[in-house]
Amino acid sequence: MPNPSFDTNDAAELYSIRAWGAGYFDVNTKGQLTVSTDQTQAVALDEIVQDLVAQGHNLPIILRFPQLLEDRLDRVNTCFQTAIKESGFQGNYQGVYPIKVNQRRMIVETIAEYGAKYRTGLEAGSKAELALILVQDIHEEALICCNGFKDDDFVRMALWGRKLGKNVVITLEKYSELDRVLRISEELEVKPAIGVRFKLHAKGSGQWESSGGDDAKFGLTATELISVATRLQNLGLSESLLMLHCHVGSQLTDIRKIRQAVREAAQTYVELFELGIGLKYLNVGGGLAVDYDGSKTTFTASANYGLQEYANTVVWTVLESCNEYEAPHPIIVTESGRALTAHHAVVIMPVIDALGPTQAPLELPPLAGDVHSLVKDLQELENDITVKTYRESYNEAVSVKDTMHNLFDLGYLSLLERAHIENLYNRILLKVARVVQDVDYVPEEFENLPKLLADKYVCNFSLFQSLPDHWAIGQLFPIVPIGRLNEEPKRQATLVDVSCDSDGKITKFIDLRDVKATLPVHDLREGEAYHLGIFLTGAYQDVLGNAHNLFGRVNEAHIRLTDKGYKLELFVPGQKARRVIENMGYETSDLHKWLLETIAESDIKLPKGQLKEFIKLYDAELVGYTYLEQM
Ligand SMILES: *Cc1c(COP(=O)(O)O)cnc(C)c1O
Repeated sequence: MPNPSFDTNDAAELYSIRAWGAGYFDVNTKGQLTVSTDQTQAVALDEIVQDLVAQGHNLPIILRFPQLLEDRLDRVNTCFQTAIKESGFQGNYQGVYPIKVNQRRMIVETIAEYGAKYRTGLEAGSKAELALILVQDIHEEALICCNGFKDDDFVRMALWGRKLGKNVVITLEKYSELDRVLRISEELEVKPAIGVRFKLHAKGSGQWESSGGDDAKFGLTATELISVATRLQNLGLSESLLMLHCHVGSQLTDIRKIRQAVREAAQTYVELFELGIGLKYLNVGGGLAVDYDGSKTTFTASANYGLQEYANTVVWTVLESCNEYEAPHPIIVTESGRALTAHHAVVIMPVIDALGPTQAPLELPPLAGDVHSLVKDLQELENDITVKTYRESYNEAVSVKDTMHNLFDLGYLSLLERAHIENLYNRILLKVARVVQDVDYVPEEFENLPKLLADKYVCNFSLFQSLPDHWAIGQLFPIVPIGRLNEEPKRQATLVDVSCDSDGKITKFIDLRDVKATLPVHDLREGEAYHLGIFLTGAYQDVLGNAHNLFGRVNEAHIRLTDKGYKLELFVPGQKARRVIENMGYETSDLHKWLLETIAESDIKLPKGQLKEFIKLYDAELVGYTYLEQM
């Protein structure tokens, strides 16, 4: 039944769309979830998905919007330029994108190319990442930062980059790396550009706070920092020391912690200046948070500050330290990854089934003969649930269900009786839930009721591939139906994926005040697709995702928004079964050969035609999509 008092604004509020949407996501009057930037009109995700399906592409699919990456670059750089102008800071700002956050080609190339006008650099944490970065077309003054532990070849590659005129800076993560860098730069006859990661005392806050603090994995102590500086001075290489680097963690939720860390970094920078070491760059690392739940709090899924406040905090804090010591103003570098990439990607997954107590029960044969007293008890309970009695009825029903299980195990109840009791119990829960909706004060024991009654919506996707951080560390992401948002969602559901792992489920959802145990969803309609979007998945999920159960990479569509609507720039097919199987050490040609052998060895003789059909199916599966296709 349409509820005339529920409109698209209610839907936007229910799912906090405008709170986490950062101006990119909204709802149109038709109840469709839309995407837009300041420069483009809104396009309904639903329509993009329908078009893709009509073109024969399968779901799940990742929609990527390069313009959202570009807009993030614009916003971050504009905020820093504003802070610099308003504070009178004499230095400059240059961002560096750490590609470990998402190395997918479209992301790195978009940031490199579009970011050129801001001298956006790239950061490598491994040889493979550096190999990717060295061939990107970035501004000549853009930084290439080499972080992470290094071997000789990593350093060699970095120094070759320097020889080729690129602004490659090698960050020392531990003291012994200095010897390596000095030895190899002599070997290659090139002056190194060196950064030092300093172990800040300050810690971040939130899920990744252990990246900072005294027990952090990376970084040099004050003693080591001074030793590096004096050794370079003694070698006449003090000009090679260009950057002070620190990084106290990702998704820093509290601006006060950021101020504290930047203060310590800036203080270290000016102290080095006092020692006669003038650094060009002060790199305050990543950590700029994304407000996944829209609550603007210090909760792990949120942040109590925005982009401008972040930029102001960094710039003003550096400025104050510098001015106190009359030190020159450095180029401020940040390594934001999450904040640049999270918004650009949306995972679209179809709901393919609903399981659970609120689904219409199946017809049961009636109980013959004497009806068991437990069944009678529940029938009576069901008939007199009222506002006055629902508590007793509920507790009684729970106790009857427990007794039922005991009696069943002992052989005193038949399977049919058990089935009847299950059905009655479900009906009682539903009735109690309806009564509880109308009472002012809900007793504690009923807080779990919505969860007990929630449907399980089966979604055609793998949590392990598409949302690994939810599985691994319980990170929350906004999840919203992309259509029917002009219709009140009357059901509550948890989500389960199609992997065979019981962990493949989502039972925690964003909320402005809390974490919700269920997601409001609509009824599934026969013959009509129902799609959920998982938003803000562009950071870390792509590379951390794995092929659990051999569900591989999903299809991708790169979408450019235009004045007329949108353009499909590129379709990137997801992994075929073959690819994930080959990753496990098999050759597809062997599989085919082994299949023929298996058939030959089989004692059961089937007609040739039938076997051909099976071989065709088998081979087709190897080049098929790994997700469910005929639903
Ligand atoms: C991972 C990482 C980053 C990126 O952090 P975000 O929170 O994604 O901005 C930046 N710097 C270093 C050294 C990192 O390891």
